[in-house]
Amino acid sequence: RKFGYAVLGLGKYATEVILPNFSTAENSELVAVISGDKAKAEFYARKYKLGPNSAYTYKDWAAIARNPAIDAVYVITPNATHRHFTEAAFAAGKHVMCEKPMATTVEDCDAMAAAAKKAGKQLMIGYRVHFDPMTRDVIAQLKAGQVGKLQLIQTANLENQLPDRDLPYLKWRLNRAMAGSGSLGDLGIYGINASRYLSNQDPIAVRAHEIMHVNDVDGAMSWTLYYANGAVAEGASSFGSAGCNRFAVIGDKNYVEIQPGSSYYNNQARLFSNGHGNDHIFQQPYFQKFTATQWGHQLDALPASIASGKPSAATWQEGRRDVQIISAIVRSAGNNGELVDVHEGADWAQQ
Ligand code: NAD
Repeated sequence: RKFGYAVLGLGKYATEVILPNFSTAENSELVAVISGDKAKAEFYARKYKLGPNSAYTYKDWAAIARNPAIDAVYVITPNATHRHFTEAAFAAGKHVMCEKPMATTVEDCDAMAAAAKKAGKQLMIGYRVHFDPMTRDVIAQLKAGQVGKLQLIQTANLENQLPDRDLPYLKWRLNRAMAGSGSLGDLGIYGINASRYLSNQDPIAVRAHEIMHVNDVDGAMSWTLYYANGAVAEGASSFGSAGCNRFAVIGDKNYVEIQPGSSYYNNQARLFSNGHGNDHIFQQPYFQKFTATQWGHQLDALPASIASGKPSAATWQEGRRDVQIISAIVRSAGNNGELVDVHEGADWAQQ
C-alpha cells in the first residue's frame, strides 16, 4: 500500500498547494486531515474523497494514533507551533514532515529531534526545492566543478506582500512570536539553504543589516555568509520589494544564473562561460502543473528514506542548520552588522 499522510493545518499552503499535489506523488497518498476546525477538516476530507476516520481536530491524537492508515503527519502551521505539533505527532507514533523553517529557535529544533529519536521515527523538513530535478541537476554540475573555483553566490528572495499584511497568512508572518523572524525566515531561508547546497559548504561567519522593519520583525534583510575558503554568499529577502527570485553562482571559470531559483514552477538555470556574458549553454524549463512536481518527489522522499535507511535530501539537520544561521543573521543585524561566528560548535549555536 501507499505511504499515508495526515496533513495538519489547513491554511493557504496546505489547501492550495500540498493537498492538490498528492496526485503527483507515486508512493504516497493523503489519508487524513487535521485542523482546529472540525467542519473544515470534514470539508477537505469530502473534497479529496477520503475514507471514514479521516477528519480530525487537534484534540484527536488518541484516535490518530490508533489509525494504522496514517504513517506520517505533515505539519503546515505557523512556524512557532511546529515544535508542539511535531512532538504531538511523534507521541502518537507517527513519522513527521514539518514545513520550513523547522522552528523559530535552535532549542525547539533540538526538542523536535529528541522527540523523533525517542519515538524511533523520522523527521523530515519540507524543503521542496531539494526535490526539483532541475535544481538537483545544477547541484550535480556544480559538484563536478562546472564553475571552477567558487567565488561568489548571490541570492534574492523578494516579494511585495505588504499590501496584504492584514490577511491571515501574512499577519502571523509579521509577528515575531509566531514567525521567529520576518522576511528572513519566510523567504530568505530559500537563499540561505541554496547558498549551502550550491556551494556544498557551510558558512563559518555571517554579517547582516536590516533594510526595513515591520511590526517587530524584519520586512527586508541583507546578509553576507563567509566560507572558510574565502568565497562569500550575499543574500537578501523582502516582504516589500519588487518580486525577484534569483540565485547566481560565480566561479573563476563559469557563472550559473538560476532564475527563478526556488519558485513553485519553471525554475530555470543558465550557464555562462568564460565571462563573455552571453554564452548560453543550457536552459532547462521544467514542470507543467501537476506532472512530476517538486512536491510529488518530496512526499515520496520520506517513505523512501524510511525504507532504505538513508537520509533524505531534507533532513532535520538541514532544517536546524538554517535556523542557526537565521538566528545569527538576526543577531548581527541587531548589533550593527557585527560578525557572528557560525562554524559548527560555536557558542551561538547552542542558543
Ligand atoms: P496560513 O496562515 O495560511 O496557514 C496556517 C494554518 O495553521 C491555518 O489554517 C491556521 O488555522 C493553522 N494553525 C494551527 N495552529 C495555529 C495557531 N496556534 N495559530 C495560528 N494558526 C494556527 O499559513 P501558510 O502560508 O499555509 O504557512 C504555513 C506553514 O507552511 C509555515 O511554516 C510556512 O513557512 C510554510 N510554507 C511553506 C511553503 C513552501 O513552499 N515550502 C510555502 C508556504 C508556506
